[in-house]
Amino acid sequence: MKPILLDMNAEEISAIMKEGGQPSYRAGQIFSALHLGKEFSEISNIPKALIAALEDKYTAQPVKIEKEFPSSDGAKKYLFRLEDGVLIEGVLMRYKYGNTLCVSTQAGCRMGCAFCASGIDGLARNLTPGEILGQIIAVNRAEGGVAGDRAVTNVVLMGSGEPLDNFENTLKFLRLAGERGGICVGQRNISLSTSGIAPKMRELADAGFSVTLTVSLHAPDDTVRERLMPVNKAYPIKEVISAARYYFEKTGRRVIFEYALIGGVNDAKEQAAALAAVTSGFPTHINIIKLNYVKEKKLRGASKESVRVFFDELKRRGASVTLRRTLGGDVDGACGQLRRSYLDE
Ligand code: SAH
Ligand code: SF4
Repeated sequence: MKPILLDMNAEEISAIMKEGGQPSYRAGQIFSALHLGKEFSEISNIPKALIAALEDKYTAQPVKIEKEFPSSDGAKKYLFRLEDGVLIEGVLMRYKYGNTLCVSTQAGCRMGCAFCASGIDGLARNLTPGEILGQIIAVNRAEGGVAGDRAVTNVVLMGSGEPLDNFENTLKFLRLAGERGGICVGQRNISLSTSGIAPKMRELADAGFSVTLTVSLHAPDDTVRERLMPVNKAYPIKEVISAARYYFEKTGRRVIFEYALIGGVNDAKEQAAALAAVTSGFPTHINIIKLNYVKEKKLRGASKESVRVFFDELKRRGASVTLRRTLGGDVDGACGQLRRSYLDE
């Protein structure tokens, strides 16, 4: 595979220009064109010889849309193909305030959560910063065209992969997304979801980032959480919550906890009470969602009735909580599911 030019920031492209004896303003032109989704052959304000030299050495757009799957609720699933043939997925969700794209940070995942389709075959490989960014660029282009408005206004790192297990590439992606002349998605409009790699949550805060941090908790006690999420053996709940509090203290951003309700596993009223307790003491919010059924897994979503009781109990105890709609459910909305069903065909 050729190196990916989209992995580089304007400064790094500038260094390449300098080396080739090009004026430095070329770097900004190339950076903007790439972030609009252009292929080398479509960049018209650059001398042909320079384009040919770049094309020889680099990949411009590392992410191609393999297939789109519109859902009846307005969400759209994308299957993306990377240069080496690896398939990953994303979902575009339309809201009143804008469009949120859910992107992947790894092909597969090695965290092995019991309910998740992404982890079934383990980790294939990390995505590069440009491959994370390229998903957004590809959707912007597909939805708005090269000259159109940027369709994607918000990004959530909730596709396949554990972003904090691909730490440096994810950080570089976050910087690129906010860079001038790029896709213009700032940190306030990005959510990073983690299974709770506590030391990396602290490192993220220490590195000066202020994205919305979302922690997948899914159980209020270590016994149940360990069964669902092997990562809990390394970083038990106490450490995860303490790192979440640290993130709040450093950034001033409230932390969101994800909780997927699984019938007979984590959906009892007492567990709602325990969840309200462990997430209290600093500004937090809880997103509850009914588990998406994954056919390779035995776990089932909680009943409507227990979802309601669970939600009411959290409210009663003063927690800030929303019941999240499952968007794109009819096109295998949960992470990792679309890719699997596509490969099965
Ligand atoms: N690895 C990160 C981010 C990707 S997973 C993380 O685990 O947070 C994005 C979210 O989808 C997580 O909250 C994860 O717990 C959740 N998820 C995975 N499989 C699911 C399923 N079958 N139903 C509902 N949510 C699921
Ligand atoms: Fe990986 Fe997140 Fe799926 Fe767990 S839930 S296996 S951490 S992608």
